[in-house]
Amino acid sequence: MQGSKSKGLYLTTFGCQMNEKDSERIVGLLKGLNYRLTDSADKADLILINTCSVREKAEYKLYSTLGRYKRLKEQRGTIIGVGGCVAQQEGERLLQRIPYLDLVFGTHNIHKLPELVREIEEKRLRICKTEFYTELEPDESFAIDEGNKVKAYVSIMRGCDNFCSYCIVPYVRGREMSRRSDAILDEIRRLAEKGVKEVTLLGQNVNSYGKNLEGEISFPEFLRRIGTIDGIERIRFTTSHPKDLSDELIYTFLEVDKLCNHIHLPVQSGSNRILKAMKRRYTREDYLRKVEKLKKVVPGIAISTDCIVGFPGEREEDFEDTLSLLKEVEFDSIFSFKFSPRPMTEASKMGDQVPEEVKLRRLQVLQDLQKGITLKKNRALEGRVLKVLVEGKSKKDDRELTGRTECNRVVNFPAPEDLIGRIVEVRIEKAFANSLKGSIIG
Ligand code: SF4
Repeated sequence: MQGSKSKGLYLTTFGCQMNEKDSERIVGLLKGLNYRLTDSADKADLILINTCSVREKAEYKLYSTLGRYKRLKEQRGTIIGVGGCVAQQEGERLLQRIPYLDLVFGTHNIHKLPELVREIEEKRLRICKTEFYTELEPDESFAIDEGNKVKAYVSIMRGCDNFCSYCIVPYVRGREMSRRSDAILDEIRRLAEKGVKEVTLLGQNVNSYGKNLEGEISFPEFLRRIGTIDGIERIRFTTSHPKDLSDELIYTFLEVDKLCNHIHLPVQSGSNRILKAMKRRYTREDYLRKVEKLKKVVPGIAISTDCIVGFPGEREEDFEDTLSLLKEVEFDSIFSFKFSPRPMTEASKMGDQVPEEVKLRRLQVLQDLQKGITLKKNRALEGRVLKVLVEGKSKKDDRELTGRTECNRVVNFPAPEDLIGRIVEVRIEKAFANSLKGSIIG
């Protein structure tokens, strides 16, 4: 294969950072078959869509995206494949529904991709591979980094055991499995040698890291060890389940200087009745207590969250409870969604579904409220000097660079390109709802 002409891979990714990371692995694994990323589906020999089924909208997007590639199959014989959560959820049904689809590969089968693609190339088969395995794939297939050199995502675990009643993840990503910490630490050391300054540890529930691995270290201890790796200047992690946020982890923010002062802590609802129906296993009071402790122990910590509106049975007073929680916590940012019933989940079978127009209105009210809070919190940063890891050129203005503060704000500022990859001090001059503008110090 070496020396032969490379083939084009056109890859589309929907969904979360976990999927982005899986896509990096896909690109790295397919290099062995001489595939290189192309930015045009028209020129590709292989089109892959890495899907998300956490929300209904993402699933519809798959079908409309696939429709665009039918012509390419007919005209050029392009191989077309679907991976990720929808592939896992639908399996063979996808092959039946889309006659021009060649490959369906599930969330546990990414490492098998080179083998599967080769088989399709040689035998023109249609393949569906969606088995779940009780062991994780080999570490080499995780430790592939195709991202930029400044920051990298590192998968530390996969799957989830929590079975929140609205969530499809345990069904499409399987039960929780952690990778061995020594393999992950080696991976992070290699990333540091390549010039990576910031790592984000990924998992559905990172604070239960190591739970099913005998003799494994705790998540706080793992963070301490990453903190000793030369070259790594910033550590982030996502996502944390509030019920598993321990005092030890909160104090780790003080111990490990490199740990950024930001935490994503999904609350989902401010109503105890709804939290119970969601099977979140904490109350509004538990959540507020943890937030209070975080703010006390780590002054200035930025807290972001996820909220779902219109969960089955959500009444106006439940929604008001969510609004009041938002006002009380004053999150730095939120991701908010309308409830959408997902197959296999308990909530999809619940009665008392909230009408669409009510969900829409509640979502709007919630987002308007949060917009004001975010802007207020961003404005409070005006005049302050913040450390920014410079990630690259700004998309809106190529005379400007862009980066993130420790508290996870995007900052744009004019500066020379050779600062990319460095941590610089920036004075914040103007705050907007989604970003800050500043000027470099010195
Ligand atoms: S913790 Fe709940 S919401 Fe998060 S992935 Fe697991 S089941 Fe889904």
